[in-house]
Amino acid sequence: YSTAAVVDEQPIKPLVQVEHTGLLIDGKFVDAASGKTFPTLDPRTGEVIAHVAEGHSEDIDRAVAAARKAFDIGPWPKMTAYERQKIMLRAADLIEKHNDEIATLETWDNGKPYEQSRQVEIPMLVRLIRYYAGWADKIHGLTVPADGAYHVQTLHEPIGVAGQIIPWNFPLLMFAWKVGPALACGNTVVMKTAEQTPLSALYTARLFLEAGLPPGVLNIVSGFGPTAGAALASHMDVDKVAFTGSTATGKVILQLAAQSNLKQVTLELGGKSPFIVCEDADVDQAVELAHFALFFNQGQCCCAGSRTFVHERVYDEFVEKAKIRALNRSVGDPFKSGIEQGPQIDSKQFEKILRYIRSGVDTGATLETGGERHGSKGYYIQPTVFSNVQDDMLIAKEEIFGPVQTILKFKNNEEVIQRANNSKYGLAAGIFTQNIDTANTLTRALKVGTVWVNCYDVFDATIPFGGYKMSGQGREKGEYSIKNYLNVKAVVTPLKNPAW
Ligand code: NAD
Repeated sequence: YSTAAVVDEQPIKPLVQVEHTGLLIDGKFVDAASGKTFPTLDPRTGEVIAHVAEGHSEDIDRAVAAARKAFDIGPWPKMTAYERQKIMLRAADLIEKHNDEIATLETWDNGKPYEQSRQVEIPMLVRLIRYYAGWADKIHGLTVPADGAYHVQTLHEPIGVAGQIIPWNFPLLMFAWKVGPALACGNTVVMKTAEQTPLSALYTARLFLEAGLPPGVLNIVSGFGPTAGAALASHMDVDKVAFTGSTATGKVILQLAAQSNLKQVTLELGGKSPFIVCEDADVDQAVELAHFALFFNQGQCCCAGSRTFVHERVYDEFVEKAKIRALNRSVGDPFKSGIEQGPQIDSKQFEKILRYIRSGVDTGATLETGGERHGSKGYYIQPTVFSNVQDDMLIAKEEIFGPVQTILKFKNNEEVIQRANNSKYGLAAGIFTQNIDTANTLTRALKVGTVWVNCYDVFDATIPFGGYKMSGQGREKGEYSIKNYLNVKAVVTPLKNPAW
């Protein structure tokens, strides 16, 4: 079964039909209450892929009511953990079976290389759902040795209805990071997907229904942030909101949560992550890893290594080789085999990235390569490299979220620690060195949620991910993410006969 047909003329036509465009509420695909739809676009061309039901606050109300019922009356939190686990495992099997169709939808809607969707992201989605299924029957409280004649225990209970708002850069991985722990712990979910990429989550959620997930446990409302997203974050009957996206919107989510019912909040926000190439680096390897750290996924990663700090001893060689590597990056139709870089997500991001590139040139950074759109249609941007970047330039401070590498020179470890930490963000960092002492010193000094030493973007299901400072609150993936979806109840019972 091949989902992406290779034909001579551009663009390549994906061989899947869009099956689901409705809102998924209470186990059924339905129209929006208003009857409104919005187009979701192919970033390769800007043409419409499908018209999708556009959820507003009435639809969020309907979805929350369904999730509330599935939580309060059940069956989800009242089922045994083993039953919940089996449903999640069956869903993972179905996703695995439909790997190529889902990968095609993901690439079509998002623009990321099909090989990346097919070989990395959908298998990772399966792995994540299996990982979280594994947690379902391993969540339990403690017995606590309190003073006095009491039997004290803690119960770990699901929080209730979880509102989840996700971005467009990794639509299905963000789906799994959020839905996985919520369901494993016995919560029910209303998810608002990103308006740019509604398709793959609808398809995948259908597979959860086929696997036996009861109606109302997982509801998906496609739509826009200020309408559907804000209605979810401010809903009085939602017990927790989990958000991934920009820091600016993260602040809005926190305010909406506080102004409504003080629902619990976790946030995974932006970054400007340093990638530090030390003086002992093998330059060829460092160039390749720094290139991957920035350009992966069209540069649209919250943890992109977007400040490439290079020691002065290897700087000139590094810049020259980084430029050649970017020049050799294969850009084109993401359905074509061997393509490393597809289009950016939409015209808004495309224009924003080009504005940042102009700002880099205007403020005196050296444009080594790239800087223009690639081709004449769609949202493709040439892989771009700036050298001689200074800390106070906009391109060194703000999240560009595109294929733009900024290279900065440093002299010693003390200096690079201070400069790397001089950011409002603290999501991730990369360190490239053979010196264990340098690696240990930098690792401990950097104020970030993840440090990758001689590697980058390692995203195993077991490894916690999240930010220091304005990059977020809470951790996703791994054991830490389970805590985000549980309330702890302390139960104190007097002991009749303390001697025993
Ligand atoms: P965004 O933060 O505005 O959107 C992310 C999600 O939040 C989407 O589902 C969106 O509909 C929703 N949203 C937007 N406004 C909302 C509101 N008022 N209330 C509730 N939900 C709301 O991000 P964007 O506009 O798609 O991209 C802007 C910038 O954000 C990018 O250039 C990039 O720098 C950053 N970004 C970061 C991530 C990440 O993974 N951390 C992902 C996407 C974008």
